[in-house]
This record gives sequence, structure tokens and C-alpha cells, in this order.
Amino acid sequence: MSKDANYIKLINTTRWRQLRLKKLQAQPLCECDECTANEKITPATEVHHIVPVESVNNIEQMETLMFAFKNLMSVSHECHVKIHQEMFSHSKVNVKKANEKRTKRFIDKYL
Ligand SMILES: [Zn+2]
Ligand SMILES: [Zn+2]
Repeated sequence: MSKDANYIKLINTTRWRQLRLKKLQAQPLCECDECTANEKITPATEVHHIVPVESVNNIEQMETLMFAFKNLMSVSHECHVKIHQEMFSHSKVNVKKANEKRTKRFIDKYL
């Protein structure tokens, strides 16, 4: 995945590392659709952004998505990989449309 400079800057902050830790402590199990649907107990080791940070273009909104607790999802490494594969397995146009809708909803609600 190509990551832009702002994203890399944000992901390397102490603020992100602390928030990530806080999220994993608050929700130590994988919250992916598959695990929650099957009530699987999978330890989460990573934190996923529900609305991708890179779905917005300006740094202020990126920062909001990056650090919004409600935009975080605890996931296991395996499930995280799967989520990202699924995000890219659909045709790009559909993913883009779905992301735009989700992003807009999120922005309307929280920004
Ligand atoms: Zn999972
Ligand atoms: Zn992710």
C-alpha cells in the first residue's frame, strides 16, 4: 500500500501509539465482522481505522480520522489482512463509492 507522507507522520506519533494501546486495552478481542458474527474469541494485536485515514485529503481531517476513538477497531493480524484484502477485492469504483459514503457519514457525525 502506498502511504502518503502525512499518514506516515501521524502513524509515527506518540499520540497514535498511546491511543492504539488504549484501544487494545479497552477492546482486547478482534472486532471484525467475522469474529463478532461467530462470537470468536480472537486476541487483537492491531488497530484498524474503519474509515481509512487516507480517504480524506486535508491534514486536519486526516488527523481527526486517525485519532477518533470511534473510528478504531481492534483486530488480529490475520483478520486485519483479510479486511484490507476485502477492501481492495471489490472493483475500485465500488470501494471508492462506499468509502465516500462512509467517510461522509463519519464527517457529518463527528467532525
Ligand atoms: Zn477477526
Ligand atoms: Zn487497517
